[in-house]
Amino acid sequence: MKFPIYLDYHATTPMDPEVFRTMAPYFTEIFGNAASRNHEYGWKAEAALENARTQVAQILSAVDKEIIFTSGATESNNLALRGVAEMYRDKGRHIITSNIEHKAILDTCHYLETQGFQITYLPVDNFGMVSVQAVREAIRPDTILVSIMFANNEIGTINPIAEIGKVCKEKGVLFHTDAVQAVGKVEIDVEKMGIDLLSLSGHKIYGPKGVGALYVRRRSPRVRLAPLIHGGGHERGMRSGTLNVPGIVGLGKACEMASRLLLEESTRLRAQRDRMWKAIQAELDEVYLNGHPTERLPNNLNVSFAFVEGESLMMGMKELAVSSGSACTSASLEPSYVLKNIGVGEDLAHTSIRFSMGRFTTDEELDFAIKKVVSTVKKLRDLSPLYEMVKEGIDLKSIAWTGHH
Ligand SMILES: *Cc1c(COP(=O)(O)O)cnc(C)c1O
Repeated sequence: MKFPIYLDYHATTPMDPEVFRTMAPYFTEIFGNAASRNHEYGWKAEAALENARTQVAQILSAVDKEIIFTSGATESNNLALRGVAEMYRDKGRHIITSNIEHKAILDTCHYLETQGFQITYLPVDNFGMVSVQAVREAIRPDTILVSIMFANNEIGTINPIAEIGKVCKEKGVLFHTDAVQAVGKVEIDVEKMGIDLLSLSGHKIYGPKGVGALYVRRRSPRVRLAPLIHGGGHERGMRSGTLNVPGIVGLGKACEMASRLLLEESTRLRAQRDRMWKAIQAELDEVYLNGHPTERLPNNLNVSFAFVEGESLMMGMKELAVSSGSACTSASLEPSYVLKNIGVGEDLAHTSIRFSMGRFTTDEELDFAIKKVVSTVKKLRDLSPLYEMVKEGIDLKSIAWTGHH
């Protein structure tokens, strides 16, 4: 086993060796600029790009021409939101999103607010799910775009994307989804789901970092976007700049592998995830699952361990590479806004851990991780007077606390 054991696949994934091998020649021998139309170096690079475009399109049931390559999902999200906002601003200046989107969406929305747009941040339910009815009710005559994530990167909840797409179609509003975490985990069909724009990223699906794509619908309706980057007119004028050929070849290969392995991999990951959750529940009480019990990514387990101190929990599990429910902001530990917005209290949020398994997670690693989590929580609780009181049947709410807490 390699330590620390990597259980943070939502943050990034190691590149698959097959992806790496496919990319390698494009750094050296096949180095051409895909825009060079006069010689074989350029043609070969262009052929590789177009092959990758097909591979990315296929995982979404889209058409090649609808794929725009970017530097990653942060850029794809910016291009989708700002591109639509600028292009359709005369039609309306209202955009709908949710309050647990990735920062690449939320911060872009905050920026658009400074540019005269109004944003509705829909609240989600206690499982982190967006209500289709709430989307319907939020749409106004001046709404130009709805952007709702396919699956959440912290708690794994999967939204009713096809139903939201249907509402948007009915109302004639464009629909974007940040599908970074869903690609390769869940079947995606932009036609059946009524998706007009979709963001994905290479490094979340065993491809390279710094490369991603935006799906942009070509017909019914044809979506137009104002570019963020000008010059050269690459990517149908929506994203200028010499294309990152090796990165894009890697993204294509990663998509091809992800669709080929989707069923087998999601089944295996779900089994591992469920095994871990069952083991934790069998060994520990006062543990709470964050996110949806069934409508969730197969590789996501987000748990709050009551009566332990978050910091000590992370310190006690240094052999595991996991994510905590606290975000380090300058001086203090802030609980995650996602957990806060699904109603997890501040104390519990600090004791939350996100485990995410992936392609290279072994059963042996998982066994080690389970033992480590259980023993660390037990050890910390043995030192906790609060936990002892609860075990003795004392209702904590009945205690008259003195001092501040
Ligand atoms: C990782 C992630 C992003 C950002 O993708 P980058 O390619 O790293 O810019 C956006 N949205 C979600 C849901 C993510 O998990």
